[in-house]
Amino acid sequence: MYFEDLKGKRILITGSTMGIGLAAAQAFAQLGAKVGLNGRRKPENLDTLLADLRSKGGEAEFFQADIASTADCERMVSEFVARFGGIDVLINNAGGLVARKPLDQIDDAFFADVINVNVRSALMTTRFALPHLKAAAQASGKTSSVILVGSIAGHTGGGPGASLYGATKAALHNVQKNWVDYHSGDGIRFNTVSPGTVDTAFHADKTAETKARIASGIPLGRLGQAEDIAPAFVFLASHAASGYITGQIIDVNGGQFMP
Ligand code: NAD
Repeated sequence: MYFEDLKGKRILITGSTMGIGLAAAQAFAQLGAKVGLNGRRKPENLDTLLADLRSKGGEAEFFQADIASTADCERMVSEFVARFGGIDVLINNAGGLVARKPLDQIDDAFFADVINVNVRSALMTTRFALPHLKAAAQASGKTSSVILVGSIAGHTGGGPGASLYGATKAALHNVQKNWVDYHSGDGIRFNTVSPGTVDTAFHADKTAETKARIASGIPLGRLGQAEDIAPAFVFLASHAASGYITGQIIDVNGGQFMP
């Protein structure tokens, strides 16, 4: 059956100590995968998180790295490979707004922070993972998979103070087209999961009234939950399910935006 091929697969998920990344890790653990959690800092509840993932049937380990730093991306990939022996699937999930700033408040430091956490992170982690993804594809005869996390903001431009964030997500929506052109020969697929408004810590600055107003504008009538996004990662990770799909953006947004 589809997705059974994920059993034993080595899957590194950046920014996965909470939110969308953690829900994805839980889904992969349930399918018997070997999951690498990552966060900038070791979370206080790490032992519980790992025990939960292992009890679901997967293997799990935590790799501390600030993915805004190229050196940390390289170290995280090396440590993951040292622990699990290779990489079959890379999910570049970590990212965020950093802060909401209108155009007249964007300075060089803020520009660098938003680019580093959303674009440099995914580009460098993919760069260092590439030889391992290629080796895994050659060894298995199946495709490896890189999944980027875009955003509805990458289509629409983003909400208040999120112009730069939206631009970084649009960059991710675009960069995979080049990677498909030049790295498909290595047996690697590149796809993007692009969420709408998902009720995670990302929206901690919003009141319940604001969230209700946003929900009322979504055809399916509610905000997304992290668990709504996880199946799209599972689909794109599985060679059996999506081995002929590359260079695509899957929008998971309850109809909030239709490209
Ligand atoms: P979240 O804030 O709940 O989780 C973000 C995760 O990224 C956390 O685990 C955090 O530790 C990690 N992280 C942040 N900066 C990091 C760094 N420098 N190094 C390592 N880890 C870091 O957010 P979320 O809603 O789960 O967002 C996950 C992804 O989905 C992000 O790329 C975000 O831009 C994207 N996204 C979210 C929404 C939404 O509405 N929540 C919508 C579209 C896209």
